[in-house]
Amino acid sequence: MGKVTGFLEVDRQEQKYQPASDRIRHYREFTIPLSSQEVQRQASRCMDCGIPYCHGPTGCPVHNQIPDWNDLVYQGDWEEAARNLHSTNNFPEFTGRICPAPCEEACTLNLEDVPVTIKTVEQAIADRAWDNGWITPQVAAVKTGKRVGVIGSGPAGLAAAQQLARAGHEVHLYEREPKAGGLMRYGIPDFKMEKHYIDRRVNQMMAEGVQFHFGVNVGVTTSLAEIVDANDAVLIAGGSEKPRDPGMSGLDLAGVHYAMPFLVQQNRRVGGEDVSHEEPILANAKHVVVIGGGDTASDCVGTSFRQGAVSVTQMDIRPMPPVKEDKLTVWPYWPTKFRTSSSQAEGAAREFAAATLGVVGNNKGKVTGVLCARVDERRRPIAGAEFTIRADLVLIAIGFSGPREDTFLAEVGPMLVRDKRGNVGANTEDYKTSIDKVFAAGDIRRGQSLVVWAIREGRQAAAAIDEYLTGETKLPR
Ligand code: FAD
Repeated sequence: MGKVTGFLEVDRQEQKYQPASDRIRHYREFTIPLSSQEVQRQASRCMDCGIPYCHGPTGCPVHNQIPDWNDLVYQGDWEEAARNLHSTNNFPEFTGRICPAPCEEACTLNLEDVPVTIKTVEQAIADRAWDNGWITPQVAAVKTGKRVGVIGSGPAGLAAAQQLARAGHEVHLYEREPKAGGLMRYGIPDFKMEKHYIDRRVNQMMAEGVQFHFGVNVGVTTSLAEIVDANDAVLIAGGSEKPRDPGMSGLDLAGVHYAMPFLVQQNRRVGGEDVSHEEPILANAKHVVVIGGGDTASDCVGTSFRQGAVSVTQMDIRPMPPVKEDKLTVWPYWPTKFRTSSSQAEGAAREFAAATLGVVGNNKGKVTGVLCARVDERRRPIAGAEFTIRADLVLIAIGFSGPREDTFLAEVGPMLVRDKRGNVGANTEDYKTSIDKVFAAGDIRRGQSLVVWAIREGRQAAAAIDEYLTGETKLPR
């Protein structure tokens, strides 16, 4: 490593944010990047720890060679750092922005100090590579003559399609939406990641030969059987978007919505899509209660403020994590386990250790509040500890229970074997499903997860498909 004592000399420095009062006036990203000199100083904190857990099994799911590119950045060799980063991750500008960075949780510096700003360095490398024109289409020199269909253009489908095209296959990507990106486009708001980053990758992939077919809802507008017939192999990467049922009363009151319709509608608005045929779900001038403590809930909080909510209260059944002054975060609840984001800092009230018992309304069928109760250490409501929070809009963001059933899953029924949670059954060795020629990867296989896991599964499934089609593969797993 270049600077063995870097971690002793340089303090961790994070990217700064625009003040909350400014950033809630728009939907754009609001981080203020570090200077490249500062990123180099931050990279020098990587301490040659011997066993870099950051890219091992508990750290980065795509096994980014983090110590290597930290060192390259410290040495000023950004181009080689970009090459190294892209050898394990198709889309580092996505993960550099929205990954909760399990690598930082795994960083050895956590033992005595605070971790290297790995995610910030990753984003800086990727952005610089694009700015300098180092990222160009990699068109396969030799074509295999095989044709692969990929269903779904979320990070799993995009990563798989790119790898397969680079291996020389003719790749057709089918997407029911008008644009690519999956939850990165329609779930995650622009203030976390602006969508032109996805468009830029789509252009690169088109130049590499991937053929995108938008507005194709497999199982509805086209059958899965037709897609399977037309291709030598098919990867299903359709995501996991069925909302978990909160099992409480009052869900049919006006003003009660699941998170996804709210977020998707706003993302469409920001992206210039026509939403005039939909019932508007808006937080402006409203008291909003968001039920849930994960990423989706945080995104509802930030979106509500940008729409002009009067107040936003976020409900979490878990107790408030202990805050340790000298640590960066709320130890032992690192953000991957206990998600707190910039959205809460925009003015949300947070209720911890509180169960939501039901939604209450007036005689016009309109929501007026959420009935809650404090919970004991086993998360059971405590009798006599009930309270009500005023609400004009309630957003339910308590997670997802599996893939949507109204598409090709309905078409194929039990032919496609599921696991006990309802996800499509396939292992992570060959990614094969119970249907011949059909593979599965991403959230539809593993359940709602993270972008970085979807990229990993897409890459690994591409290698498995390449091997299935040609008898061998040079794609990394
Ligand atoms: P998806 O991204 O869900 O993509 C599936 C695609 O398949 C979609 O485009 C869908 O339209 C398409 N599709 C489905 N069925 C069909 C069909 N029948 N025909 C054609 N197309 C079809 N992860 C992070 O790492 N960081 C975050 O900050 C983060 N924030 C999140 C915020 C929200 C609100 C949500 C909901 C999730 C968040 N996640 C985050 C999780 C992350 O977005 C997902 O884990 C990831 O996108 C899964 O990728 P995927 O490719 O498996 O599926």
